[in-house]
Amino acid sequence: VPEDSLDIPKIPIIPMSYGNARRFLEPMTGPAVPQSWQGGLPFHYHVGPGPARSRMKVKTERGARAFHKIWNTVGMIRGSRWPDEWVVVGGHRDAWGPGARDNVSGTVSVLETARAFAALARDGQKPARTVVFATWDAEEWGLIGSTEWVEELEDTLRAHVVAYINEDGTFSGPSFGGGGSPSLKPLFRAATRVVPDPVGPGTVYDVWLKAHNGDTTALTMGNLGGGSDFSGFYHHLGIPSGGIGFDGPDGIYHSMYDSYDWMTRFGDPAYKAHRAGAQLVAVILGRLANSDLLPLDYAAFGTELNGLVAQLDSGIAKKQWKSSVTTQALKDALDRFTAVARAFNAARDSALARAGGVDSARAQRVNQALMLVERRLTRPEGLVSRPWFKSLQFAADLDNGYATMAFPSVNEAIRYADAATANKELVDLVNRVDQARAALVEAAVALR
Ligand SMILES: [Zn+2]
Repeated sequence: VPEDSLDIPKIPIIPMSYGNARRFLEPMTGPAVPQSWQGGLPFHYHVGPGPARSRMKVKTERGARAFHKIWNTVGMIRGSRWPDEWVVVGGHRDAWGPGARDNVSGTVSVLETARAFAALARDGQKPARTVVFATWDAEEWGLIGSTEWVEELEDTLRAHVVAYINEDGTFSGPSFGGGGSPSLKPLFRAATRVVPDPVGPGTVYDVWLKAHNGDTTALTMGNLGGGSDFSGFYHHLGIPSGGIGFDGPDGIYHSMYDSYDWMTRFGDPAYKAHRAGAQLVAVILGRLANSDLLPLDYAAFGTELNGLVAQLDSGIAKKQWKSSVTTQALKDALDRFTAVARAFNAARDSALARAGGVDSARAQRVNQALMLVERRLTRPEGLVSRPWFKSLQFAADLDNGYATMAFPSVNEAIRYADAATANKELVDLVNRVDQARAALVEAAVALR
């Protein structure tokens, strides 16, 4: 991979305390910043120039000790029925500072679910699929540990991994949240209905719904941008990925205040969110590992993606390309996809409801086809801007590594290229959506 296609920062970055930051920010007299740049300090933010001048002394190990050994830890419980189908859960073990939230809180949920699965296995209840528990090193340096693992085992993972669950900096307050591939969101939502809320009353779902005044349509979850270890699985290999968490007000992100003391006094006193989070992760993993037919929902996936075509439309309108570029073919392809997915879901539900369930060999054929759906929305040559990003459903925004961008191949053509390139990318994407639909058809045929 050429170096300039990597997300290596070009400007050195150093976190600093609010007291020091204030000395830089407050005196600035340039134009006012956009709303979204305004931070928590008690004055209006402006960009430069000056007049503040400063001398900074930064001590870094990069030059003196440029190479460090890193370790991923990986444990595995072999599945009893479908050992070649793997469910992977992981979280990063390294941190900027003490890292109680980011990412001890995520790591311990991985360890706790591993403990629970191990206890069940010792009791004779092994998971039907293989479950892999990982902690990654060097995430904060650019997702290095997980990316190396994914790249080294690329062919194996592409052949075997059903889904990847990522737990990163996630248990530090009362409010449930989740994000991931649209195919996994219904599973995450279902899990919230069976786990008691850390504050209550009722389940995580009850409290989540109450926080949105009973509006079920407001219970949305995010899509995956960049900035954590799902990237290798999701953006590079097209494996369904996501995670859940509990958040609250903080301000300790990537600082020395992300400590055990902060977590115990403010973030999650009594560690109830930690417990509920680990339970949620265990339910999600349990269903992924044990359901006869994989709980991936491609009707929800198609519906959500279809809604996101509007983002392309607004980009096209902004460029005044309406007469030369249209997304109608993409909408039609996603409609066809969603229709097949709905029919498949109905067939799956009735197959699962039948006495005796689905026999192992048939389930395996169905699941093998289901596993292809999102993989078929990748392309070997990747995005024009970043060949490593092979998935065409979502990518990190080129201009903001934490933000997400839907249909990146088309979106970037609209943003950075011309109408002809945008049309070419649309044709390519429609083709791949149709191939993904063909995988759903294969799954439906295998189920008959
Ligand atoms: Zn993190």
